[in-house]
Amino acid sequence: MPVARIGFIGLGLMGKPMAKRLLSAGHELKVFNRSRGPVEELVRLGAEAAGSPAETASESDYTILMLPDSKDVRLVVLGERGVIQAAKPGSTVIDMSTISPVVEREIYATLKERGVGYLDAPVTGGTIGAEQGTLAIMVGGDYAVFKKAEPILRVLGQRIVYMGPSGSGQMTKICNQISVALSLLGACEALLLASKSGLDLDKVIEIISSGAGASWQLANLGPAIVNRDFRPGFKAEHLMKDLRIALEIGQELNLPLLGTALVHQLFKSLVARGEGALGTQAVVKVLEDLAHHIVSRSLGGAEES
Ligand code: NAD
Repeated sequence: MPVARIGFIGLGLMGKPMAKRLLSAGHELKVFNRSRGPVEELVRLGAEAAGSPAETASESDYTILMLPDSKDVRLVVLGERGVIQAAKPGSTVIDMSTISPVVEREIYATLKERGVGYLDAPVTGGTIGAEQGTLAIMVGGDYAVFKKAEPILRVLGQRIVYMGPSGSGQMTKICNQISVALSLLGACEALLLASKSGLDLDKVIEIISSGAGASWQLANLGPAIVNRDFRPGFKAEHLMKDLRIALEIGQELNLPLLGTALVHQLFKSLVARGEGALGTQAVVKVLEDLAHHIVSRSLGGAEES
């Protein structure tokens, strides 16, 4: 595809590897982030540093956002030195963060009045997917704008699905997060029981992962839990935010979301302990406190016979 001028705002765990892929694909990149470290890293690789979100967007055909929450996206797009101050008519802003669908629709309508396209295009697939360009991307917005932006999204993701009008991408992502959170709870409880009853935890993960109880959470985060590795691929505070959004939508639609509410409370407890920047698998610590039992290989491990 022809070289595009791309602005990228939000160079965290996900944004940095995504921005690197766009550079490697030969696109011109201008980057902005709240902290300087990742900006300097991208500049060393050939990107240009911008001084504000407005400057990031001013000459860009596409401006991509990968920010924490709704308030951050609102500020970066609609704020004083925001993208809206400088984005060219005919250009497209693509928000790949996970935020509220309601906020996305507001931003979409505001930018549309200025002739600027807006897509909500949240992703799933984690930091590994961001590095390898294998993310799944669910897109909401105008179809024609989506088709134009699709080649850019192809650099970042393998499975790209147009879900419908503005907000549909985020709504889909929130459904995904409910599924993520509840299967994580299942994986944690299964490991707690396995540990307390003295089973070999590695074998438990292996055999469950080959049958009907298999989940991405158990297969990928189960070993991390057993190894007490709580480094973040996906930060606990971000999943708490996603579950909060799910509950807000449930409230609006009068939809009971019992499991979501339960896991949200567990994540609140983890964040209250000051551990929100750990990976989501750290929620097992809250369950371990309730159980007075720590998931541990040393307590299990039946002998090979
Ligand atoms: P992160 O906390 O690692 O990174 C966020 C980045 O945004 C940071 O570099 C921060 O400095 C920057 N930032 C925050 N406010 C800013 C502002 N006002 N202006 C400029 N930069 C600002 O988060 P992450 O893990 O990269 O996740 C980003 C988004 O993607 C979140 O919405 C998250 O829920 C979602 N997401 C994360 C994963 C994952 O596995 N980590 C997967 C899918 C989706």
